[in-house]
Amino acid sequence: MPKRVYFFGAGKAEGNGSQKELLGGKGAGLAEMTMIGLPVPAGFTLTIATCAEYYASGKRYPKELDKEIRQNISKLEKATGKRLGDPKNPLLVSVRSGAARSMPGMMETILNLGLNDVSVEGMAKTFGDARFAYDSYRRFIQMFSTTAMGLSKEPMEEMLHKMKHDLHIKEDSQIPADSLKVLCNQFKAFYLEKKGEPFPQDPIVQLWGAISAVFNCWEADKAVKYRQVEKLNFLTGTGVNVQQMVFGNKNDRSGTGVCFTRDPNTGENIFYGDWLINAQGEDVVAGIRTPMKLIEMDSKYPGAYKQLCAVRKTLEKHYKDMQDLEFTVEDEKLYMLQCRSGKRSPQAIFVMAADMVKEKLITKEEAIKRIASDDIDRLFYPVIDPKTPKKDLEAKKLTTGINAVPGAATGEVVFNAEDAEALAAKGVPVILVRKETSPEDVGGMHAAQGILTQTGGKTSHAAVVARGWGKCCIVGCEALNISYEKQEVTIGSTVIKKGDFLTLDGSEGVVYIGKLDLIKPELPNAYYTVLKYCDEIRTLAVRTNADTPYDAQKAIEMGAQGIGLCRTEHMFFDSEERILAIREMIVADTVEVRKAALAKLLPIQRADFYGIFKAMNGYPVTIRLIDPPLHEFVPHDEDAQRNLAKAIGIPFEKVKHRVEQLHESNPMLGHRGCRLCITYPEILEMQVRAIIEAAVQCKKEGIKVLPEIMHPLVFDAKEFDLLESQTRAVAKEVIDAAGIKLEYLVGTMIEVPRAALLADEIARKAQFFSFGTNDLTQMTMALSRDDAGRFLPDYVDSKKAGIFKNDPFQSLDQAGVGKLMKIGIAGGRATNPKLKIGICGEHGGEAASVKFCHKIGLNYVSCSPFRVPIARLAAAQAVVEEKDAAKAAAPKKKAAPKKAVAKVVAKKAAAPAKKAAPAKKAAPAKKAAPAKKAAPKAKPAAKKRK
Ligand code: PEP
Ligand code: MG
Repeated sequence: MPKRVYFFGAGKAEGNGSQKELLGGKGAGLAEMTMIGLPVPAGFTLTIATCAEYYASGKRYPKELDKEIRQNISKLEKATGKRLGDPKNPLLVSVRSGAARSMPGMMETILNLGLNDVSVEGMAKTFGDARFAYDSYRRFIQMFSTTAMGLSKEPMEEMLHKMKHDLHIKEDSQIPADSLKVLCNQFKAFYLEKKGEPFPQDPIVQLWGAISAVFNCWEADKAVKYRQVEKLNFLTGTGVNVQQMVFGNKNDRSGTGVCFTRDPNTGENIFYGDWLINAQGEDVVAGIRTPMKLIEMDSKYPGAYKQLCAVRKTLEKHYKDMQDLEFTVEDEKLYMLQCRSGKRSPQAIFVMAADMVKEKLITKEEAIKRIASDDIDRLFYPVIDPKTPKKDLEAKKLTTGINAVPGAATGEVVFNAEDAEALAAKGVPVILVRKETSPEDVGGMHAAQGILTQTGGKTSHAAVVARGWGKCCIVGCEALNISYEKQEVTIGSTVIKKGDFLTLDGSEGVVYIGKLDLIKPELPNAYYTVLKYCDEIRTLAVRTNADTPYDAQKAIEMGAQGIGLCRTEHMFFDSEERILAIREMIVADTVEVRKAALAKLLPIQRADFYGIFKAMNGYPVTIRLIDPPLHEFVPHDEDAQRNLAKAIGIPFEKVKHRVEQLHESNPMLGHRGCRLCITYPEILEMQVRAIIEAAVQCKKEGIKVLPEIMHPLVFDAKEFDLLESQTRAVAKEVIDAAGIKLEYLVGTMIEVPRAALLADEIARKAQFFSFGTNDLTQMTMALSRDDAGRFLPDYVDSKKAGIFKNDPFQSLDQAGVGKLMKIGIAGGRATNPKLKIGICGEHGGEAASVKFCHKIGLNYVSCSPFRVPIARLAAAQAVVEEKDAAKAAAPKKKAAPKKAVAKVVAKKAAAPAKKAAPAKKAAPAKKAAPAKKAAPKAKPAAKKRK
């Protein structure tokens, strides 16, 4: 029988911090904090597996669970010296969810469970404080009724508001005991009316209700949506934590707070957080009251604050990461209620990682493991253009709030999540304006460019969720007077209606009226530091796909080590002059006319290549000869055809006829790629001449060059041999004429399945391969890269067909296309062990695909300039993951009983690798690499690939 409940308390715990997958983040954190001696109220955790069992058996509990829970309640009663349901001094508990990954605000919490009409009186007497007892009871009734029993929140909130209004008070903590008692009765009457039965008085019934609530909320829409947005679909359920209550709402010597061991926005190593006096946990996170800064606690409760600072130190050292903590102070005594790895802004991710390496808290490898490719994307989020005149900013400044998440956003104002999602789906940028956000808003928050709330602090729901996404967010903007009904917000005398523009500066917390220009921000130094770690660790080179000197320069700044794909056809779209020349070449009906047109293109191409070589200054540059279907280049409407005819001096009919001739039913499978040069070798001649002449010019000027001439869409060795010899003939002529030495390579793309299958033959002449996985995916899967988007989402959607986890045009289909790549690599390197192999399809900039490329032994990946840092990170992570896997495998080997046996084992293990000789440099051999590294005295195998 599996153990389903884990106890923690009085310095001991049955679980520990490494069991997040079993106990959930919260449960594991509580167990670990208990074990390291921190002041944690006792309790127990129901495992995530129990939640999964509950769902697997049609929402029924395992038979034995009741007994296990009762046993743990007894333990808890023993540890606390109180009894659940005791009429005089009752044990009260909190019931909270906790999944394996943080889902802020997603799951439900019930506090003060165990109170009933009798024990509330006992509590009032024991504590000598009726106000406190009835405040706890009214909170419990509210939370239980809404969370566990599904009653709507608003009516009870309304009753609370009315009570405060009638009493002419603002704060909940000012409501006197008698009024709270009246409120409890109103709540219970409401419960009876809605549920048709009295509010449950038996604490065991209450507890089961609360456990069901936590389990059931796992499948609530908001939780499902959050998991979808955050790609957490692999999670199987939530744990449930039942813990003795401590009371931040006991009196003014009590309070509650949320804090981070470092600043989650800037990453700075300062203690950061919010707290409230005389309040219970949810008050801070829900953002109902605007909280105080953590440092103010020092003057109010110096003892507890000092203790909290010590906890901060202990936990950072223990977990080697920034922690997000929840605490309660009861009668100035500190209790820890939660610790978990804290969410942080993209900037803070890099700052903390670099700082922690400097502080020797973590290694460089650990630092880069903590960074996700999205974090890099998010670093480039916009800020308000610093060139915006100060007086414009002043004039447009509307109000200020708390700067919860940095960055800037501009968009149309909407007041609910549905509108945000609907407009964003149409491509309209929106700013979501709410009084406060709740988990129901998460879809709209994700869709919005920025979030603005009237209440809440830096740890409110809005702030925490937005921070995780690096999304600009301003909270606690008290000047806002929002009317959901009228769909407008009033700030002083200004009225902003739905659809009006606002600009948010999340770094400063300023709200501007209208639309301001945004620009990309400056990167923190820590970004460069962390990427330097990546470069030290990775073995896979990262190149870029660039067609202009500007892009090439940009890519160098992003850390590219060469160009892996320069699409020459893109160069023809640059100007009218170029388009005309290429069109003249295409409509030409004799070789002479075509050559004359090509002669016009030659100097243009040469100048482009020269610029690119110069920008890349010695890095390899792979130039692909012209690729696209010819008909894409010619005009299709009559006017444009007439204009072309006039410009190049031939009859309109001739142009029209040629365009008709070029029409193909299946252009993607048609006269494109190297097929053009097979039929019109003069195109190859012009392009190769332009490349080599540009290289010669550079060389003469002392600029280093390494051109790699690449033929697209090759599918046969004979085809490639022909192209290769033509390429070399032209190159030789130019080089000989220049009288210099010039190194260059000739290779091919592998983007047709047949080429991968026959790679051993093609590699006889090819000096390099580059996988064109856009076409290889299209042709392997028979999915049109231009049209499949119409139905592919259904293949990816887990609620529909769910056949693929990701769009195969974005993340490489490793099982299918990847298998062809492995065949291509094995074949190619069997013929030419030195064959350089890369990838230049879109997948070269997608993290999972890059890791796969590392694993199967590519030399480089190539991607668009902005994805170069992502590829650098993923390539380094691949090395670290490989090392980790080797380490995980290592102890098994060491555990071999005797030396003699160990030797036999080692020999056996070596044998298959030798047998696999033909595929030596390909996938299987690379896969074996970790085992090599794990061997006792093996040298570190990491060598840089080029
Ligand atoms: C490819 O097919 O992967 C490729 C890089 O070429 P293109 O996208 O230009 O067809
Ligand atoms: Mg292609």
